[in-house]
Amino acid sequence: MQINLLKSIVASVAGSSASGIVDFLHKKKNVNEFLIAKKLKLTINQTRNILYKLADEGLVSFVRKKDNRKGGWYTYFWTLNSGKSLLKFREHLAKAAENLQQQLQQRKASRYFYCPNCDLEFTEENALIHDYTCPECGSVLQAKNMQDEIIRIEKEINKHNSLLEEVDKEVQVIATEETKARNRRARAEVRKKLKSREALRGKKKVKKVSLKKNNKKKNKKR
Ligand SMILES: [Zn+2]
Repeated sequence: MQINLLKSIVASVAGSSASGIVDFLHKKKNVNEFLIAKKLKLTINQTRNILYKLADEGLVSFVRKKDNRKGGWYTYFWTLNSGKSLLKFREHLAKAAENLQQQLQQRKASRYFYCPNCDLEFTEENALIHDYTCPECGSVLQAKNMQDEIIRIEKEINKHNSLLEEVDKEVQVIATEETKARNRRARAEVRKKLKSREALRGKKKVKKVSLKKNNKKKNKKR
């Protein structure tokens, strides 16, 4: 898989600061988490937080080993999964894009109010119930200008969609490779069967020939 796509994926799951983990884990297996923390210049807890988030999405997997030098604590060894984990990630991405789309519709369809004092947000219905005053501090509620937020959500949706496109391309590539590999295996299987059949036939021939030879010898003697 392309390393840049992996980075975008990791960034979208665990934040842009986490994407450096890809450089370090790419094409390696079972990397010690303390080594990862050291390379990323993060604490072990920060590192684990990132890795757990990625593991939830199936993007990394781990094995753990009890470390007797560290008082019997477990040390985790991490491997970046590409390939099949992509499908799970695609699902997550599509769902998130759908949620954003819903948010956008809501934001566009209704009015919102806020308290300038407490930074609380109210739907129009709630604002009406409270007579357009904040139930916490009594300030008059203000109508919220949704334009900025709508733009923010739209940008977020675009980001999701372009990542989704990238992921779909990669899924396609992987599927094609898998089909090719399957076909290769099937052809190899057929060749193997043909060969063993030929070998069997060859043996039978040898038997017949040697029988003939024996007969000839017998005939000569007579
Ligand atoms: Zn208030």
